[in-house]
Amino acid sequence: MQTTLCHAGRHPEDHSGAVNVPVFHASTILFPTLEQLDAKGDAPVRYGRRGTPTSHALEDAVSALEGAEGTVLTPSGVMAITVTLLAHARPGAHFLIPDNAYGPCRHTCHEILKPMGVDYTFYDPRIGAGIAGLLREETALIWIEAPGSQTFEMPDIRAIVEAARARGIPTALDNTWSGGFFLRPLSLGVTYSVQAGTKYLSGHSDVMSGMIACGAGAHERMKAFAARLGVCVGPDDAYLVLRGMRTLAVRMRQHHEAALQVAAWLETRPEVLRVMHPGLPSDPGHALWSRDFSGASGLFGFVLAPVPRPRLARMMDGLRFYGMGSSWGGFESLLIPTDPAKLRSTTSWNPGGQSMRIHVGLEDPADLIEDLAAGLARLA
Ligand SMILES: *Cc1c(COP(=O)(O)O)cnc(C)c1O
Repeated sequence: MQTTLCHAGRHPEDHSGAVNVPVFHASTILFPTLEQLDAKGDAPVRYGRRGTPTSHALEDAVSALEGAEGTVLTPSGVMAITVTLLAHARPGAHFLIPDNAYGPCRHTCHEILKPMGVDYTFYDPRIGAGIAGLLREETALIWIEAPGSQTFEMPDIRAIVEAARARGIPTALDNTWSGGFFLRPLSLGVTYSVQAGTKYLSGHSDVMSGMIACGAGAHERMKAFAARLGVCVGPDDAYLVLRGMRTLAVRMRQHHEAALQVAAWLETRPEVLRVMHPGLPSDPGHALWSRDFSGASGLFGFVLAPVPRPRLARMMDGLRFYGMGSSWGGFESLLIPTDPAKLRSTTSWNPGGQSMRIHVGLEDPADLIEDLAAGLARLA
């Protein structure tokens, strides 16, 4: 995979030998003869909205990473989610969504799908083969997130996919956490692997991006649906994501190692009630993670013993290397308090303290641990 990431989507011979695909800014594409204009439906590039050599190169690279038949690019990760959901929406349809799904996925269900007449059930992410009991005649899509946002429970992907396939129901997995590098959902029979390219693929906190990598037989329909919606991406953004992907392998290995170090250290601290990181042997999802993943990324959670907000602020405001802000997957570390209970309806989240989400970046883990140690000391 490391080698593929360096070479996928590159054709220097097509553009003066330059190593990287150029940024093609284009709306109108000219055809030199009437015959070629008449046949433009077959041309690989025919109109900017339909894709440029830059966006096609990124599609090819993501398809190689995910083992996909083809990839649909979107301007954000959220749009990759909404396009996948909408492609299966019709009045009377029923979706299954994990109760720990990324917040905006939940909001889309309430605010867009429900008024369209789509019904949905939020399922316990640890349900495993029990998902079969929630399937209805009308079930049209099963969503999976591995691990779930904020709380990091690990689903039994194989059991869910098996139940879905027995009934011919498509599955979509939000694969943002693994960056597509540590988990290849399509090889497990998942229909769509959805990612926010905003996170690890681009890797530098400077671009919004999303993608839907489609399994065998699923690409043509998804591509046509997204094209009908007018979904397209800018060439500068596609270029940045492609550039990030060239170093994905080395970055992910570093995130894996450093985050495990920080997580194991946090587990030893008296201020910390619990660490949610499936790569830790103590984590309830560890066996499932070991079975299906080849590594863990830099994002995980932990729970601090109850702490009044002003004291939490003393810890947070004095951190040197951890930023406070949305998103993750860049080279830099982040730390924010979270409130997962707000984003649940069929399961509960009562960890008995303040939930936190940490992104371990590419800094020296010794510096990151020292900064956190000083922060925890300020809690007292
Ligand atoms: C950030 C994120 C998204 C959305 O990506 P955007 O590019 O911010 O729209 C989707 N899924 C998960 C799990 C995420 O963390």
